Amino acid sequence: MAASSSHYDVIIIGAGAAGLMCAATAGYRGRKVLVVDHANKPGKKILMSGGGRCNFTNLNSTPANFLSDNPHYCISALKRYTPQDFLELVDRHGVEHEEKAPGQLFCKTSAKDILNVLLTECEWAGAEIRMATSVTQVQLSGTGYKLKTSSGSLSCESLVVACGGLSIPTMGATGFGYELAKQLGLSVLPTRAGLVPFTLHPELKQQLAPLSGVSCPVDAHCQNQHFREPILVTHRGLSGPSMLQISSYWQPGDDIHINLLPAQRIQEDLFALRKAKPQSTLAQYLNQHLPKRFAQAFNELQGWSRPLQEYRNIELEQVAETLRNWTVKPAGTEGYRTAEVTLGGVDTRQLSSKTMAVLEQPNLYFIGEVVDVTGHLGGHNFQWAWASGVAAGNAA
Ligand SMILES: Cc1cc2nc3c(=O)[nH]c(=O)nc-3n(C[C@H](O)[C@H](O)[C@H](O)COP(=O)(O)OP(=O)(O)OC[C@H]3O[C@@H](n4cnc5c(N)ncnc54)[C@H](O)[C@@H]3O)c2cc1C
Repeated sequence: MAASSSHYDVIIIGAGAAGLMCAATAGYRGRKVLVVDHANKPGKKILMSGGGRCNFTNLNSTPANFLSDNPHYCISALKRYTPQDFLELVDRHGVEHEEKAPGQLFCKTSAKDILNVLLTECEWAGAEIRMATSVTQVQLSGTGYKLKTSSGSLSCESLVVACGGLSIPTMGATGFGYELAKQLGLSVLPTRAGLVPFTLHPELKQQLAPLSGVSCPVDAHCQNQHFREPILVTHRGLSGPSMLQISSYWQPGDDIHINLLPAQRIQEDLFALRKAKPQSTLAQYLNQHLPKRFAQAFNELQGWSRPLQEYRNIELEQVAETLRNWTVKPAGTEGYRTAEVTLGGVDTRQLSSKTMAVLEQPNLYFIGEVVDVTGHLGGHNFQWAWASGVAAGNAA
């Protein structure tokens, strides 16, 4: 194909985390790269991530931190571009960061720092970014692709689809990547919201209203997955890291089992306390181990008012079981409106785990969230965006 101002070696649809990383990587290889995005600004999700501080990687990230119908797919890319590699990039740009929880690295100042790293890298690599540009048509043309966009026709040798998932539509999320994949003959696994707060049935919501705003560390489990992280009761339902993590595994109708005192041997504690201080109450015991407001409200919810000496062994065993296995059946989740990620997506069985290219169409690539690889909370999703972006950028 003759070179023209509208012809590029690589066109990337989506100026998010994965697309920008891919653009810089391909640009440094001397490829003529264009990134197009329909939003007015690049990297909007990066800016809103991690409460504005962007949890940009997780030093302890392993393939076990990812959900996929094809769990081995992500291993190769994650191995070849590690959290340490991204950290080195961030350090080279002098971005200050901190480890807020084990392995979870956040910007000290602002998520803007991470976006600036990516935009600077794209500039240094000579990659062009064209915002406010909608792609209206994509057509296979020889071994490359022709695109119709709101700013004219474009063509490229390699096309990289990096337009993310469906979460937070107000930030520019669309189902475009999935539709394009289907149009180009690929299968897309069903999508659903992940890392999302739970909603509750009205009666439970009302009962838990006094706990609203309170957070405490718990061990929550569902579908054989355990997460020992805080729960947060909100005026809308259940949130906090443990609930967000569980939401990626939860299926409608499932119960969530919550151990409110995972660090305690509850039954032994209660028996010993009854012996040592027979007049003490369950409220006093809970006060020692839970935030005061949570302890008080949970105690009232259960109607535990008598002194411990009035509890028979079997009753104390039941109390211990309630604290160890508080069972909640959510009504649903808040859905894509507030979800951090979209589960499911382009079936990875059709892609090369080395390059992210479609096996049957080697000049077509899918990277980032649009692919059926979804990370746990804690920086893993960005690590996948970086790793898959680099893998495609080195090949496209
Ligand atoms: C509130 C929130 C907080 C988060 N915090 C974290 C965190 O701290 N750590 C972490 O690891 N992950 C976090 N995530 C997840 C993380 O943001 C995503 O996993 C990551 O952004 C995915 O990267 P991506 O490049 O695949 O998609 P995106 O970053 O979503 O980029 C996709 C781009 O494609 C563009 N696009 C969409 N449709 C079209 C179209 N039709 N035409 C052209 N362009 C299009 C969009 O405008 C966007 O710029 C958070 C997510 C949310 C919503």
